[in-house]
Amino acid sequence: MNKNRIEKLREGVEEGKLVIYWMRSAHRINDNHALLRAIKLSNELKVSLKVIVIFPEYILNQTERFLYFYLEGLKEVQLSFHKMKINFTVLMNPQIKSINEEFKGLSHLVTDKVYLKEDLKFEDKILKMLSKDISIEVIDTNVIVPVRKASDKMEYGAYTIRRKLNQQLEDYLDLEGLPSYKEPRYKNNNSLMIDNIEKIVNMNFPLRDRSVRKSKYFFGGELEAVNRLKFFLEKKIRFYSERNHPGENVTSSLSPYIRFGYISTNRIVHELRNALNTNKIKKIDYDSFIEQLFVRRELAFNFVTYQKNYDVFEYITEPWCYQTMKEHALDKRDYIYSLSDLENCNTHDKYWNSSMKEMKKTGYMHNYMRMYWAKKIIEWTNNYKEAFEYTIYLNNKYFLDGNDPNSYTGVAWNYGRHDRPWIERKIFGKLRYMNSKGLERKFDMQTYIDFVNKL
Ligand SMILES: Cc1cc2nc3c(=O)[nH]c(=O)nc-3n(C[C@H](O)[C@H](O)[C@H](O)COP(=O)(O)OP(=O)(O)OC[C@H]3O[C@@H](n4cnc5c(N)ncnc54)[C@H](O)[C@@H]3O)c2cc1C
Repeated sequence: MNKNRIEKLREGVEEGKLVIYWMRSAHRINDNHALLRAIKLSNELKVSLKVIVIFPEYILNQTERFLYFYLEGLKEVQLSFHKMKINFTVLMNPQIKSINEEFKGLSHLVTDKVYLKEDLKFEDKILKMLSKDISIEVIDTNVIVPVRKASDKMEYGAYTIRRKLNQQLEDYLDLEGLPSYKEPRYKNNNSLMIDNIEKIVNMNFPLRDRSVRKSKYFFGGELEAVNRLKFFLEKKIRFYSERNHPGENVTSSLSPYIRFGYISTNRIVHELRNALNTNKIKKIDYDSFIEQLFVRRELAFNFVTYQKNYDVFEYITEPWCYQTMKEHALDKRDYIYSLSDLENCNTHDKYWNSSMKEMKKTGYMHNYMRMYWAKKIIEWTNNYKEAFEYTIYLNNKYFLDGNDPNSYTGVAWNYGRHDRPWIERKIFGKLRYMNSKGLERKFDMQTYIDFVNKL
């Protein structure tokens, strides 16, 4: 592992007694630098290792869809740790008493890096409960180039970060197999056992949002992520140049798996390169996929890291965008829809309604339709701020890949972030505009409508 992934938050004075890996965003065994680091430390120090997952309070009122996908992944991880004889604990209520109990004897804490506010706030809360004398390391394992190494400032666009990322790519293709764990002192504990997921959802999450049901199209976990990647490389990537067509379904649909850390993007690049080197995929497809998976995605992480108010309308975009929106704030809107109209797929636009249906049914939406979907909300609401807030709300409520740096950056892009000025128009000003005629001109949209109707 490249040492630059390690951020030392605290250099403790405690003698080595126990290493804990606090698993937060990388819910996988393989290609997880934080787990690797924790196992190595425990072997070096000759002390036990424990892996802990702590449910933050905000998980209690998550949607059923989120909970199933999350617990399916955790169940798989739990089984793997059991086989590896590594003690794995899931803590439901992070009270000081349970934290003290579970972290007793801790000398070294290792955790995977998180990037969004709520998670950082929760990190702060937990770290405050721990002794000042322990060592704490945060490992940036969910991106290829660690965010602060990629760039030390907020980047203007893909064209300003691409070179910086590409120059460092080779240094961070640093996958290693896990060493065997030498201090197995596995014991049962009071952890929440992830066995019957339906029962856990019903019993342990009374406050959940029941209106968003489990997705029939996505099953959580590392195994499913790997299978999807294989399928994509074997059957779909050769059509990737057609990816903008909403009805063709040739993209990887890996975003929920990447979002939950079920697969590392580093692994995906590794497998892509293998396929490229054995002539199983074409360079042009490799390059376009890397542009999304690596450049666009890591640009999103750059944005949420250096713009702390990434979720506040007044901070999401560039001065030229606010200026043009100000100039067009009073332009007449031909349609105004309420949040409930939007959420109920109740607009005059059949393509838009289909995209909202796709999102609600599956927890996913095609990228091109995401752009169209968010652009239309700008056109059909009272003002830009309202549009932004509705879009973020719907995005994070329904998408399994929601609440991710990509969510905030993807939505901000519709307001000009990482984009450029276009020809001036009503309502949009110089922001990029999209319309249904454009969809019809470029694609056979009936295939998309048919696809959604069959869901
Ligand atoms: C309004 C709007 C909202 C969005 N909300 C989200 C979201 O909540 N979560 C999310 O992960 N992505 C979001 N995106 C980005 C993009 O649409 C999705 O990542 C992509 O559609 C996921 O499908 P896929 O896995 O099949 O993509 P593929 O084409 O197979 O790409 C592979 C991976 O690359 C990354 N990627 C692809 N496109 C982008 C992009 N434009 N920006 C950053 N990373 C990208 C994703 O991790 C994706 O899984 C949003 C985009 C827009 C315009």
